[in-house]
Amino acid sequence: MIEQKSDAGISCIERTEMDVSKLAEKVALDAGHGGRDYGAVYENRREKDDNLKLVQDVGDVLEQNGVDVMYTRTSDVYHTPYERAMAANNEGADYFVSLHRNAFPEPNQASGVESFIYRQGGDGEKMAKAINENMESLGFVNRGVEERPNLVVLKRTQMPAVLVQAGYLDSLEDNRLFDNNYEGIVQAIAQGILDSILSQQPYYKVQVGVFRMESNARKLLEELVGEGFPAYVVFEDGYYKVFAGAFREMDDAVDLEKRLRENGYATVLVKN
Ligand SMILES: [Zn+2]
Repeated sequence: MIEQKSDAGISCIERTEMDVSKLAEKVALDAGHGGRDYGAVYENRREKDDNLKLVQDVGDVLEQNGVDVMYTRTSDVYHTPYERAMAANNEGADYFVSLHRNAFPEPNQASGVESFIYRQGGDGEKMAKAINENMESLGFVNRGVEERPNLVVLKRTQMPAVLVQAGYLDSLEDNRLFDNNYEGIVQAIAQGILDSILSQQPYYKVQVGVFRMESNARKLLEELVGEGFPAYVVFEDGYYKVFAGAFREMDDAVDLEKRLRENGYATVLVKN
């Protein structure tokens, strides 16, 4: 028998059988700026490029986890903020997430991650906080969540909306964090979105390992991602837990478990 990877001596959780509806949430991802609008520029770096790459990679992780993703742009084109908001409204998106990088009037004077929302107290705020905290755990300064009711993409969207400033583009320190742990940043943002969606209703997660040491969890995460599995790490009850996928339908989780087991992993199905 293969034992689930662990350095924590945690026993397996019983599998529960339940019929639940499918993960149907649609997330609109908005890569800030584009085309003639470069956003922030620092040395050879243009915000519009960082935003587009980040949006596409975050979108891939969300799609692997069963989320329906729409994009306001998938190439270097310009759309007005109003057009972006309307596109999300017309597609019936459940959440709107705009990804940007920040800039200060003077380079290397400010750093950190910061998120904007229309109004405090809703699902947008929860999502923004989750994303900020995940980014903070990667070394970014957490500058908090701010209300920006006049930003068109927040004001004109009819669903919870968040604008994330994923570090300062004109900060060498933030760019180092961004480039050296890019995959971690993609996961941090995707996970913040996923956790917010999934906290709303029951779902199944496939747990592959439980660790006291974060480095052990990260090692397993890299192994899983390297083999093409949709993996992520959650810090919960004092342990670093490695999961591969979260699903509304138990059958979907069981299919993934089967593939993981064929690859030599011991899995546990966890219902939230
Ligand atoms: Zn921007």
